[in-house]
Amino acid sequence: MNESTKPQKKAVLFCTCSGICPSMTQIDFWALAERVRVELGDQIEFMALHPRLCEEDGERMMRQVLSDKIQFITPACAEKKQEKLLRDGFTKAGVPMDREHWIPVSMAKETTETVFNRIKLALAGQPQPTSPPAPPPPKPEGQS
Ligand code: SF4
Repeated sequence: MNESTKPQKKAVLFCTCSGICPSMTQIDFWALAERVRVELGDQIEFMALHPRLCEEDGERMMRQVLSDKIQFITPACAEKKQEKLLRDGFTKAGVPMDREHWIPVSMAKETTETVFNRIKLALAGQPQPTSPPAPPPPKPEGQS
């Protein structure tokens, strides 16, 4: 794909993992969607929110909305997981799952504020920050 055919339009497609994923308990999805609408809405064609994009009905929706003329930012589970779980949706829509068409944003273990900032970076074409490494496990008692 050359520069002239590169998608210029962007859309945000949230997957809320049913709203009960233990790794997303710090996210207020409604507040997040409204903040994206108010503060970043002029940069996006549209946004949509689905509770389970990786299920068959989610893939049907992806087939309806994905377009090779739009770059999709997908706030959902961790990037690697999205790469596996959203692949069928992209394939059924006939849209390549490359960086021109897809920017994953991880909401796993993040807060409303950090996800908002990640979406903002994605819209600006900036790389996503890497999550800090997990702290080392506690040492067994008696060891220093
Ligand atoms: S795509 Fe990821 S965030 Fe969405 S329902 Fe599946 S596992 Fe959950």
